[in-house]
Amino acid sequence: SNTNTPSVAIKQLDANSKNFAAELDALLAWESVSDHAVVTAVDEIVAGVRARGDAAVVEYTQRFDGLAVNAMAELEMSQAVLQQALKDISDEQRQALELAAQRVRSYHEHQKQASWSYTEADGTVLGQQVTAMDRVGLYVPGGKASYPSSVLMNAIPAKVAGVGELIMVVPTPKGERNNMVLAAAAIAGVDRVFTIGGAQAVAALAYGTQTVPRVDKIVGPGNIFVATAKRKVFGQVGLDMIAGPSEILVLCDGKTDPDWIAMDLFSQAEHDEDAQSILVSEDADFLAQVQASMDKLLPTLDRQDIVKVSLRERAAFIHVHSVEQAAEVVNRIAPEHLELSIADPEAMLPRIRHAGAIFMGRHTAEALGDYCAGPNHVLPTSGTARFSSPLGVYDFQKRSSLIFCSPEGASALGKSASVLARGESLTAHARSAEYRIKD
Ligand code: NAD
Repeated sequence: SNTNTPSVAIKQLDANSKNFAAELDALLAWESVSDHAVVTAVDEIVAGVRARGDAAVVEYTQRFDGLAVNAMAELEMSQAVLQQALKDISDEQRQALELAAQRVRSYHEHQKQASWSYTEADGTVLGQQVTAMDRVGLYVPGGKASYPSSVLMNAIPAKVAGVGELIMVVPTPKGERNNMVLAAAAIAGVDRVFTIGGAQAVAALAYGTQTVPRVDKIVGPGNIFVATAKRKVFGQVGLDMIAGPSEILVLCDGKTDPDWIAMDLFSQAEHDEDAQSILVSEDADFLAQVQASMDKLLPTLDRQDIVKVSLRERAAFIHVHSVEQAAEVVNRIAPEHLELSIADPEAMLPRIRHAGAIFMGRHTAEALGDYCAGPNHVLPTSGTARFSSPLGVYDFQKRSSLIFCSPEGASALGKSASVLARGESLTAHARSAEYRIKD
């Protein structure tokens, strides 16, 4: 029943074409919508929570999530509730969550940073002390869909880092709880869970209320109300990143089953209409084969409507003409997810400079990394892999510098410090250093 008209014709680019740079810029252009009405609404919600605490959170939860309670305490899930959720999910689901948690935990154990110090010739000890944050807030989206994997990916690195207390917020529209999300919280060791969401939850975490403790950093994705509220409270608390739409770039030598590649591209496109799927290959025939596979498989997908829009608006096949050109395209795009579906991915690795996560070889589907391989699935999007990294243990640790001067060290350094301080006309600085100079 296949026709010659593709269900979704993917944009075709050729890296040798003289317009390629401009075409690539156009393909990658993406503006986060900053809606004035949303900013105004969020400003009001945040101000309300700051001023009135619990009462405001209860009110907004009733208004936006259709969940009415008499007191904030009713919006907290006890550890007993979390444990019950763990019992209520199927054995298969619990085992899958536990396996994922264990793999994610052991991967992140490798990221722990240690404090260090060394001694200068004058006996002065210099170093860096690494400490965990006291309290972190984790936002788990709960409006249109639920993501237990996000709970594990955000909570486990925080726990491995040694964060003192982890507070999770997740909206439960009309009181509908998601047992997988609550079970994931139990497995990850989340300390407290509140069923609140949106800008009011972000504000409660940032400023604290009578019931919700104030946190030092807020992590986790959310809709435009959540992202706008996070931007607003930044500085009051630390933040992870404000993620753009998800993306995948598959680099294929033409020797992987085209159905596999088609499904890998679909797996990104099904996230949302703005998601981006790009296939890069030296093999023009293979690009045509993948298009045929996509036409064949598209009608079998559950989320066809989303996939079609995403593919039509944002997908592309890029024909390259050498390994060097392929690497150049990858680095220019700096994709969130990069699949190297080629015979020798290790040989390619030294050429890859910008990518959030690199999935090596034909068998490494991005989906495995999304759930349970071990590395984090919270990754830099929209080209930000040029300067940033996956969410990790290091995001929940901070560093203090250590300086422990010997008398000789203080004396020697004091002379230079005095000269520099007087040059800046900061004479109290100079005299403070000079007191410690031995004659
Ligand atoms: P959400 O929890 O982010 O938002 C729901 C909350 O939005 C509600 O509790 C409500 O308080 C607030 N809200 C809704 N309408 C409002 C209004 N008119 N005024 C004020 N507040 C309002 O859940 P969601 O809406 O399902 O969105 C989830 C988002 O998270 C999606 O955009 C999804 O793409 C994103 N997400 C991203 C990643 C990632 O890794 N980048 C992962 C998972 C989810």
